Amino acid sequence: MNQRAVAALVAVLAISAVAVLAGAAAPASPVPTAAAAAPPPTVTVTPEMRAHQRWVDTLYFAGTAYGFLVLLAVLGLGISRRLRDLAGRVTRRPFMAAMVFWALFTIVTTALSLPLDYVSGFLVPHRFGLSAQGLGGWLWDQAKATLLGIVIGAPLVAAALAGIRRVRRWWLALWLGAVPVMVFLILIAPVVLDPVFNTFKPLPDPELKAELLDLAARAGISGGRVVEVDKSKQTNQMNAYVNGLGPTKRIVLWDTIIAKMDRDELRFVMAHEMGHYVLHHIWKMLAFAVAALFVVLWLAQRAVEWATGRWGRGWGFEVAHDPAAVPLLLLVLGVLAFLGTPAVNAVSRHYEHEADVFAVELTHLNDAGARAFVKFAEDSKVLPEPPAFVRFWRYSHPTLAERIRFCASYRPWLTGAPNHVWHGPR
Ligand SMILES: [Zn+2]
Repeated sequence: MNQRAVAALVAVLAISAVAVLAGAAAPASPVPTAAAAAPPPTVTVTPEMRAHQRWVDTLYFAGTAYGFLVLLAVLGLGISRRLRDLAGRVTRRPFMAAMVFWALFTIVTTALSLPLDYVSGFLVPHRFGLSAQGLGGWLWDQAKATLLGIVIGAPLVAAALAGIRRVRRWWLALWLGAVPVMVFLILIAPVVLDPVFNTFKPLPDPELKAELLDLAARAGISGGRVVEVDKSKQTNQMNAYVNGLGPTKRIVLWDTIIAKMDRDELRFVMAHEMGHYVLHHIWKMLAFAVAALFVVLWLAQRAVEWATGRWGRGWGFEVAHDPAAVPLLLLVLGVLAFLGTPAVNAVSRHYEHEADVFAVELTHLNDAGARAFVKFAEDSKVLPEPPAFVRFWRYSHPTLAERIRFCASYRPWLTGAPNHVWHGPR
C-alpha cells in the first residue's frame, strides 16, 4: 500500500502510534520473582515458523531500503520535478499546487512500491496460512489506504511547505505544527480512520462483556469501552490493542482472539490492555514522540538544506519549500526515523513489560498468561526467541519467550512482596 509514502510523511508521527497501537507485551526489567509452581509452557518451534520469521524480518529491512530507493529514484530520474511542473500547470496557487503534487506523487510511489507490498502484505501471509483474504479485497484495502494518504497528507504537506517557505528556522515551525496534528490523528483514528477498513461493534457476548467490565472496575477503569473488530476478513492472526485519547479511547479485541483464546487467556490479555490505560501509556508515548520529533526535525533541516545545496539543481529544485523537494524531505525523515527505531522500541518494550506486570498483579493468571503467549507464537508463526539484532531493532514488545518466562514466574504475593504497578483492592 502507499504506506511507505504516508509512513514516511508521518514518519515520526508514526513513532507514537507504532508502539501504542501495536498490541502485546514488554521485556524483562528486574522485578522480584518467587519460584514458579510448574515449569512454564513452551512453544513448539517448527521449520515453518523459522521460515516465516526469516521472511518477515528480511522483508522489514528490505522494504525499508526499497522505500528509500523509490524516493531516490523519484528524485534522480526527474520524476519529482516533472510532477511539480504538472501540478503547476493545474493551478498557480502554491498551496493548491502542493496538494496536487502530493496526490500525483502518492500515486506514483504507491505503484512503484506495489510489488514489495504485495509480497509482504499478501504473498507471505497466504503462503504461511495466516490470511484468507482474496486478492480483490486486499487490493481494495490498498486503494483505500492510498486515498486516505492523499486526503490526509495533501493539506499537511502543503502546510509544511508553506511553513518552510516563511520561517527561517522551519524545523521549529514544523515541530510546533506537528504536535496538534499528532494529537488529532490519535484522537480521530478510532472513529474516522479505522472504520474505513473494518467494522467495530460492542462485544456481542454478554457474559464475556460482564466479566471484562468487572475486570475493568477492579483495574480502576470506569466507563472504558471494549469493542470487537472483524479482523478475520484480513488475517487469521490474533491481537488486541488500546487506542484513541479521551473520548475516543477504547480497547479493541480482534474477533480472531475471541475465537481462539479461552476465558482466562482473554482476561489476561485484556488486563494487559487495561494496564496501558491505567498507566497512561498513550500519553507517555506521545510525550516521548514529541521530544524525539524535536531532535529529528532539527537534524532534518540541516540535512535537507545540505542535500538541496549539493544535488538540488540536478533534481530540479533550489529551495526546500519547492514541492519537488518533498521526496527529499521524506527520505531524510524516513532515514532518521529508521535510525531511531531501536530507541523507540526500547521505550515501547518498557511500557509493554509494565503492562504485563500490571496484568499479572491484577489477575494472578500466571498460567493463562503464559499459555496466551504460547498461542500467539504458534498461531502467528513467530519465533519465541528471534535473533538478538532483530529484537534490538524492531521488537516493540519483549520477545514471547521473555513474556512467557515472566508470566510463569512472577508471583510477588507468595513472598508478601509489594506489587509494582497495580495497587487497587483485590
Ligand atoms: Zn501492549
